[in-house]
Amino acid sequence: MNLADSEEMFAHLSARGYQRTDELEEADAVLINTCTVRDHAEHKAVSFLGRLGRWKKEKPGRRIIFAGCAAQRLGKTLQKKYPFLDILSGAKDIEHFSDALDKSGLFGPQTSQGETLPPGLTGYVTIMRGCNFACTYCIVPSVRGPVKCLPHADILAQVRRKVHAGAKEIMLLGQTVNAYQDGNVSFADLLNRASEIDGVARVGFTSPHPIYFTPEFLTAVKGNPKIARHLHLPAQSGSTKVLREMKRGYTREILLEKIKALQAEGFVISTDLIVGFPTETEEDFAQTLTLVDQAGFSTAYCYKYSPRQGTPAAQMKLHSQEVLEQRLDILLNKVRGLAERTYQAQVGTTQEVLFETENKGRSSGSFWVKTKRSYPIGSVQRVEIERADGTLLFARD
Ligand code: SF4
Repeated sequence: MNLADSEEMFAHLSARGYQRTDELEEADAVLINTCTVRDHAEHKAVSFLGRLGRWKKEKPGRRIIFAGCAAQRLGKTLQKKYPFLDILSGAKDIEHFSDALDKSGLFGPQTSQGETLPPGLTGYVTIMRGCNFACTYCIVPSVRGPVKCLPHADILAQVRRKVHAGAKEIMLLGQTVNAYQDGNVSFADLLNRASEIDGVARVGFTSPHPIYFTPEFLTAVKGNPKIARHLHLPAQSGSTKVLREMKRGYTREILLEKIKALQAEGFVISTDLIVGFPTETEEDFAQTLTLVDQAGFSTAYCYKYSPRQGTPAAQMKLHSQEVLEQRLDILLNKVRGLAERTYQAQVGTTQEVLFETENKGRSSGSFWVKTKRSYPIGSVQRVEIERADGTLLFARD
């Protein structure tokens, strides 16, 4: 999502004559687009900003923009601490980024439409911003605000532009992406309409929320092979009690029900799990372990709970580091090998592969597949899987 936002902001700089460079010494301006989901990411961004003080001192005409979620959270305190900062643009203001450039009077007038990088095979398209949930550990709603769905006509125009620039796969983005609704256009409608655009080979999306997987969604995907059959569905915990305390909006039973319905439509599901939420008991943690057994995730990203200042959970009593480490270790042992087993389970199946090189591509379920024969880059081919090695499938061709 941040990559897509960075592209959008860069387009406004490019409209004012700026070009990209990887060399800090060559640059006239630096745009730092930040994440604040974890403390570490925020620290890295702020310390980079601190280091830019000297860079700017060398040539005072140089410009610095600090944007995104950390900019939103830290606000004016940053400007006080780093007076050399030219523009502070929070995550809620991305749509007004062009106005902010103009208002500063530092970036010159807009002279063109602005350009973005050619998208490569995957074109990322933001369809909504913000989140209407209030998960007790999460900083996102306070920095990104409530959900705002972008007009479907603009999104489809954006998809056409990405395809025109070379994209074959479109990835629709949003914090709770499957909650999308624009008038009578639902998320399922949007997926279908995007997939009908000439040149679109596959449409994926991230990140969905379990409760928005409706029967309507399942019906829509059933008849549409262009909708990617992989999704990353954050579960966070296997305990209904902890899920309630996290305010996730579902129980373990509902979560498993949704997962099974999606898997019945051929979806491969990866997940995120948090260990050591403040109220998590040994019994709750054991339920996260059994969730892994029951859910059939293709892979799981596991995290120790880390408090984010300003969230309700940050007021709760923390577990010791020892407990966090212990539980993380146990969970990591549990999920180790999930991906390899999922890859093994594909042997003998037929997969639709979108080729990223002449001999390698990704299947609809997001498995990497290697072929002996060469195929045109960007083409979609059906291949039979002969064997698996680690996290790579080999085709019989
Ligand atoms: S659904 Fe919960 S975890 Fe996800 S962005 Fe919204 S508040 Fe954060």
